Amino acid sequence: MSNIPPREPVTLVCHPVRSMAHPVAGSVPIRCKQCETPVWLSPTSFDRVRLGASVLCLACAHREIVAAEARGEPPEWGGFLPGQVEELKRELRDEQNPT
Ligand SMILES: [Zn+2]
Repeated sequence: MSNIPPREPVTLVCHPVRSMAHPVAGSVPIRCKQCETPVWLSPTSFDRVRLGASVLCLACAHREIVAAEARGEPPEWGGFLPGQVEELKRELRDEQNPT
């Protein structure tokens, strides 16, 4: 009974299908709630979505984070999980600076 999903709204940031050819085994495509881009939902996130979590693609999540920062809101705005914002920023940096 560890790892019970929180009941408040949670935002899940998912990788677009087009940018990830080999997602986590068992992942299923689902649509970003804002732009409807198909993104991968990993099996560990199924329960969260069932409990009402929102799914955002990387681009929409980034827009929301930038907007929240501009309003002076905390990084855990909108139900991002602890550490998720930093992880997202790292991934966006990697995406903008392909090696
Ligand atoms: Zn989106």
